[in-house]
Amino acid sequence: MKILLFGKDGQVGWELQRSLAPLGNVVALGTKGDGVMAGNFLDPEGIARTVRAVQPEVIVNAAAYTAVDKAESDQVVARQVNALTPGVLAREAQACGSLLVHYSTDYVFDGSGQAPWREGDATGPLNVYGATKLEGERLVAQHCPHHLVLRTSWVYAARGGNFAKTMLRLALQRERLTVIDDQHGAPTSADLLADLTAHMVRAALDRSALAGTYHAAAAGETTWNGYARLVLQQAAQAGVALKAPADAVDPVTTDAFPAAARRPLNSRLDTAKLRRTFGLQLPPWQAGVARMLAEVLRPGEEISI
Ligand code: NDP
Repeated sequence: MKILLFGKDGQVGWELQRSLAPLGNVVALGTKGDGVMAGNFLDPEGIARTVRAVQPEVIVNAAAYTAVDKAESDQVVARQVNALTPGVLAREAQACGSLLVHYSTDYVFDGSGQAPWREGDATGPLNVYGATKLEGERLVAQHCPHHLVLRTSWVYAARGGNFAKTMLRLALQRERLTVIDDQHGAPTSADLLADLTAHMVRAALDRSALAGTYHAAAAGETTWNGYARLVLQQAAQAGVALKAPADAVDPVTTDAFPAAARRPLNSRLDTAKLRRTFGLQLPPWQAGVARMLAEVLRPGEEISI
C-alpha cells in the first residue's frame, strides 16, 4: 500500500513517519518536496501533480500554518496552507480514490461554556488560524467523502521546542513564574496522535462508513498553569535544581498576556465518538507529558532545552 504524507517534519508529521511505516510504503514530503514531487502548500498545482504521480491509497496531511499569532497579519498565506490547498488535496484524493486524513483544532470553537466540545457542536473561531482550519476541514469533507478529520488540542513533542521545555528553561532562570490558568484543555502528544492515526487508517480503509470528523485528545484536562506545575514537579523529582519550584507558578488570566490572536478559554474536546467508533482508549494527558519529560531529562545528561 502507498501512503503519501505531507508535512513530514512537523511535530505530528515526524511521528507519522514512524507510525505509518508498518502499514505500507510511506512517501514522506516536507516543504521542500523531493525531486519532482512538491510538498509546499503554497504550490497547489504541484501538490495536485504529486498526488496524481504517486496514486496513493492513503494521503495524510500533517502540513499546516500553525503560527497562531502570526496568522492574524498573514491571512492570505495561512488560508492557502490551512484551507485552499487542503481543498485541492481533497479533490485529488477523491479523484484517485484515496482515504484522506487531515488534522484540525479545538480553535474552531469559540471557547464558551465549560462542557467538552462534541463534533457536531456549533463552531465559531476567535482567530484567523481557527477560521482557516475550519474552512480547511469543511473543504476536505466536501470534496473527499472518504476522509478522517482529527481535531486535537495543545500538541507537543519531545523533538523541537515546546511549552514544557520553555517552562523548564524559565524555572532554571527565575524564582517565580506566571502562567495562564483560565484556558482549559488537554495537552496531547504528537506520538499519540500519530499512533491513533495509524489505527484509524487501518479501520477506515475498507469501511467508508467510518469516515468523518473525530475529536482526538489525551484524556483529562488541565490549564497551562496546571501543565507547568506538573512539568516542574516532575523535573524536581528527577533531580533538576530549579530556582522556581512547582508552587512558585502563579496563576494569571488570559487578559494579562495580550497577544495578537484571541484564544478560546474552553478547549476541552469530548472524545467519546472516537473511542466508541474505533474501540480505542486515550491515555491521561499526564502520562504523555511524563514520557516526553523522561526523554528531555535523561539522568546524567545535560537537559536539552
Ligand atoms: P507543526 O507546526 O509542528 O508542523 C506543521 C508542519 O507544516 C511543519 O513541518 C511546517 O513546516 C509545515 N508547513 C508550514 N507551512 C507549509 C507549507 N507552506 N507547505 C507545506 N508545509 C508547511 O504542527 P503540528 O505537527 O503540531 O500540527 C499538526 C496538525 O495539528 C496541524 O493540522 C495543526 O493545525 C493541528 N493542531 C496543532 C496544534 C498544536 O498545538 N501544535 C493544536 C491543534 C491542532 P516548517 O516548519 O518548515 O514551516
